[in-house]
Amino acid sequence: MNTMSDHYERVKIELQQMKAMESEAAANEEQLSPASVSSVPADASFAARRDLSRSSINGRSRSKSRSKADGHERQVNGKLMSDLTPQKTDYSLEKVQSCASNVHNIKGTLSLLKGKTATNGHVEACQRQTEGKVDGSKVAKKRRAVTVDTSKAKTSLEALKMSIRQLKWKEFPIGRRTACDIYWHGVSFHDNENIVSGQVNKFPGMIEMLRKINLSRAVRTMQELFPEEYNFYPRSWILPEEYQLFSTQIRLLKDNDSTLKPTFIVKPDSGSQGDGIYLIRDPADLRAISGSQIKQAVVQEYIQKPLLIDKLKFDIRLYVLVRSLEPLEIYIAKEGLSRFCTEPYQEPSQKNLSHVFMHLTNYSLNVHSGNFVHSDSCSTGSKRTFSSVLYRIASKGVDIKKVWSDIIALVIKTVIALVPELKVYYQADIPPGKPGPTCFQILGFDILLMKNLKPVLLEVNANPSMRIEHEQEVSPGVYEYVPSPVDEEVKVGVIRDTLRLMDPAHRKQHVTLNTGGGSPEDAIAAETRGDEKEGLMDSLPTLCLKQVFPKYTKQFNNLRVVERIAAIFLRFLGVKGTMRLGPTSFRTFIRNCKLSNSSFSMASVDILYIDITRRWAGMLPDSREAGMCLQAFIEAFFYLAARRFKAVPLREQVVLLLEVCEGALEGQSHSEKPRPHRSQPTQSSAPKTFSSPAVTRRHHLRQQPMQLSAKANTEN
Ligand code: ADP
Repeated sequence: MNTMSDHYERVKIELQQMKAMESEAAANEEQLSPASVSSVPADASFAARRDLSRSSINGRSRSKSRSKADGHERQVNGKLMSDLTPQKTDYSLEKVQSCASNVHNIKGTLSLLKGKTATNGHVEACQRQTEGKVDGSKVAKKRRAVTVDTSKAKTSLEALKMSIRQLKWKEFPIGRRTACDIYWHGVSFHDNENIVSGQVNKFPGMIEMLRKINLSRAVRTMQELFPEEYNFYPRSWILPEEYQLFSTQIRLLKDNDSTLKPTFIVKPDSGSQGDGIYLIRDPADLRAISGSQIKQAVVQEYIQKPLLIDKLKFDIRLYVLVRSLEPLEIYIAKEGLSRFCTEPYQEPSQKNLSHVFMHLTNYSLNVHSGNFVHSDSCSTGSKRTFSSVLYRIASKGVDIKKVWSDIIALVIKTVIALVPELKVYYQADIPPGKPGPTCFQILGFDILLMKNLKPVLLEVNANPSMRIEHEQEVSPGVYEYVPSPVDEEVKVGVIRDTLRLMDPAHRKQHVTLNTGGGSPEDAIAAETRGDEKEGLMDSLPTLCLKQVFPKYTKQFNNLRVVERIAAIFLRFLGVKGTMRLGPTSFRTFIRNCKLSNSSFSMASVDILYIDITRRWAGMLPDSREAGMCLQAFIEAFFYLAARRFKAVPLREQVVLLLEVCEGALEGQSHSEKPRPHRSQPTQSSAPKTFSSPAVTRRHHLRQQPMQLSAKANTEN
């Protein structure tokens, strides 16, 4: 006991020292303060400070269990994580078992730690800094600290602060008069307006794209082209517009097979955390529940046979970093969370349809069940690490290497489905020629494993919770935020390593190296090695984020067909900040791509434009802008492709029409001045559009048949 309280005393002193150092540093920096910026009222900055001090009070209560979730645990899991790395994976059972025994040891080891490290190595880092100031100054001499504006970070603030401290970067909690390198927003790209440089942790339009209806639409477009590749998303119908279709299809299905007893899950379009979700067994139930006015929602086939652990249904939350859209760069966190239901699972029946604790895995719901188990261990309780789940299933003989590679494929394919429209949003907010900023974003993928181990995509969150504490009733009616070691373990790693990857120094290096194949991971690894040699490293763990794209470009690039359609759309949209194509631009597209002829007159073109645009306007009731949206343009493109190349399947029709369009535009580009193209300041690795001659592309296609149904092997 004595040693433990000694440890807390030491931690307290170290924290105070650190705070003193921070305020000293802050004094030298031009923090946005009432003194420096007159537009900020004095009490606003006071409020901000009060918030900060409040968070440090939280921090104090957190330190208790931080001393449990410490650097040692991180290292243990760091090893586990690196064992999950797809490229040099060793998924043999022995390996996983040895990792997992480490996981099981965590609790015991942690209780023995007594004053070694705390807060993911953070306090240890501080201690070193205060003991021998040499390290800090050497690092400072080495290069300027990266600056992060955290004023809009909201609920990710605690995890973000920890990450910044671990990196020894500079935080601007109430903003800065001059530009910061990185802006961390809690909600959307627009949290701070008028940012013209640096990097923002949100893409414009991501929230909109990830609403349930839009995600379903984007995946469905891909399903039309690549049905086998996109069968990881449950069959879905968009309400209210597809209610009749849903009703008819299910009636036909049941008529054909009377033993079929499907269940469906209804999800409100903009809902989250399980809000407003319910299960039905027949389309008629939907009418009975919602009356004649069916709200905007997605109704989806309910996966009846999920994989169970301890008889409980669970899902996986994986963090995915989209580092850039152009070129497309995707990273996956090697560690994630598994969220468990709190009532044993039974296949849906009329009796149990309303049992939310049995069917819905949302933390926000299950935390209210009396059966919810908060645990400091990563492998027990109602929220666990994904690696501990992998261990459990590996011990039953499951090939977790295959599970992991299927998950990677699901993530890459989903991002590929989202990119076309994201590029349209991006260009509307940051048109080519505008100085910046550039964007990146951490997404939360919710994945369900079926009993047969096939991963199914449930949804993607634009703002995954980065909270590292949870509310607990400490005495009757009294709630307090207490630290959650499992959340801290996973989320601080994800934020810190996202920052490391977005470090402007690495970005620059990446641009320079891009032609030579260097990756930011390589740059970070090289720097780490250098620092270790010089004894400067505060032993930051190896990156917990693993690049999967462009790494697996070969296996997935053939899926980026819609992105090529979007490139044509963007070209005719111009750079005026709009997202809709007007009738004249549509005509120009047809003319420039030489798509009209005697059997398809310009009058037919106008009719096509009006028909499709009107229908889409009805489906997107809240949209303020008039004209043809990307989805409508894609529909028109599919129509034109089917009209021109009748005898072949849709995807071939579309690829053939793309060739025609790109070929025609390519010819025109040669006679035009080169257009400024700056969506992100790195070289393009997007599927070839206007940059290479159509002839070369045709040759390329012949050489590499489309491999539409071939299973992607993400391990090579
Ligand atoms: P929300 O954004 O409200 O959390 P989700 O789509 O994530 O909505 O659904 C909530 C929960 O419902 C999921 O965490 C999962 O447990 C369950 N769920 C969602 N879709 C399905 C499905 N198609 N089959 C089985 N369970 C599902």
